[in-house]
Amino acid sequence: MKIEVLEPHGMCAGVNAAIAKALKLKDVWCLHELVHNEIVIDELKDLGFKFVERIEDVPEGKTVVFSAHGVSPAVREIAKARNLKVVDTTCPFVAKVHEAAKAFAEKGLPVVILGDPKHVEVQGIAGELGVENRCRCREGGKVGVVSQTTMNADEVAKQVAELRKTYDVETMAEVCHATKERQDAVKKFCSACLSSSVSSPFGLLVLGSQTSSNSKRLKEVAEQGGAKAFMAGSMEELKEIDFSGVERLGVTSGASTPERFLMEAVKFLRNVPEHVAMIMDGNGRWATQRGKRRSEGHKAGAKTLGDVLNWCGERGIRYLTVYAFSTENWKRPKDEVEGLMALFARMLKAKEKDFMKNRVRFRMIGRRGDLSSSLLKTIEALEGKTAHFERQFIVAISYGGRAEIVDAMNAAIRKGEPITEETFRNYLYAPDVPDPDLVIRTSGELRTSNFLLWETAYSEYYFTDVLWPDFSEAELDKALAAYAQRHRRKGGV
Ligand code: SF4
Repeated sequence: MKIEVLEPHGMCAGVNAAIAKALKLKDVWCLHELVHNEIVIDELKDLGFKFVERIEDVPEGKTVVFSAHGVSPAVREIAKARNLKVVDTTCPFVAKVHEAAKAFAEKGLPVVILGDPKHVEVQGIAGELGVENRCRCREGGKVGVVSQTTMNADEVAKQVAELRKTYDVETMAEVCHATKERQDAVKKFCSACLSSSVSSPFGLLVLGSQTSSNSKRLKEVAEQGGAKAFMAGSMEELKEIDFSGVERLGVTSGASTPERFLMEAVKFLRNVPEHVAMIMDGNGRWATQRGKRRSEGHKAGAKTLGDVLNWCGERGIRYLTVYAFSTENWKRPKDEVEGLMALFARMLKAKEKDFMKNRVRFRMIGRRGDLSSSLLKTIEALEGKTAHFERQFIVAISYGGRAEIVDAMNAAIRKGEPITEETFRNYLYAPDVPDPDLVIRTSGELRTSNFLLWETAYSEYYFTDVLWPDFSEAELDKALAAYAQRHRRKGGV
């Protein structure tokens, strides 16, 4: 299944601004959901935000946040009477609709609000009007029409056209810019799929909560465009969806959906491995082919490694483990070994800023006792500084798969613990890191070379003739595409 992320998608400026404003506050009550997304609401609850459905439920004198979709004047009055500190995050688009509804009413026009009467935005707009105003529509008479900002734009146009058949319509009924842009992207995707010469069954996945009006409208627009449409508010819901039969899948997200949910969903759909391990082979041959010294090859290889780390991050790969120096590599000429150790130290110091900026945790696996005290100090300082980051970059130095197993075995014996597969894992160099899903080896060699012998028992392998310094983003994508096609049975059927 081909996955295409539609642009634009996701959080709009109004929702972003509301969240940013709210996050600056402490001891806060929110009237209704601040944004219509369960992931965001759960996170805000964890931060101590309290949510109420009635303004009367906010304790007197406390801070209350009005959501991006606005409130009625009556609510503002009650807030004032209760001496509440109001933080108003009403989106400018919504405020514009309130103003239009008020202006129509002031001109003496009956006002028609297109939208879901149960939605807080519609209730807020309705609150601007007197009850009797809402009852005075007579045939042929003049009416003012406004709409909820997150409706289906085509549906708004249809309903306005329908009203025009009976009334003299003055309208400001339009959906907001963000809603329209996201709906237009879905329409564009559907027509591209329908007009493609290779017509294949296509679908559209909307990531957003059931409480999000604009997410539901995106699904509606996709169905109108001929797509098989799906909606998921969480990873659990996404994993339940049966996409069988769909060959081309567009992915979008509602205006309240956080980007990280889309990234995680896309990673899952594209079957991106969580942990990639690499045997970076070919630096020496790369240098020899160019008449350069082997050290030049190692330098070029180090540059490639920096790029690979970024490319893996961009693709949502959480763990990258690389084989930098094996226990056998100590047998190489002394000057090459010293050059490599100096290169590691330089590289780690130079990369520290990038690790902090990109929130990458650095770790070393291997026999630490073999390293010079200054290199070990650099390594351990960097490990300490980055220990709290989620994405991990693990470098195997003075590492051997057999050595790791022997070290683990000795540690288990010292502890006197009975050895099982589960207890044994606790003695590996990085026991908390999941086993690699994919191992990539460059330079045409078809061996495992003593790399992660225990951990790669069920890993998929990808071999390429490309020498490590020439390993490119396209080559990484080839390996990931090959992995995505594999069916990992792990001994099952
Ligand atoms: S969806 Fe539209 S109206 Fe609602 S907050 Fe975003 S920009 Fe504002």
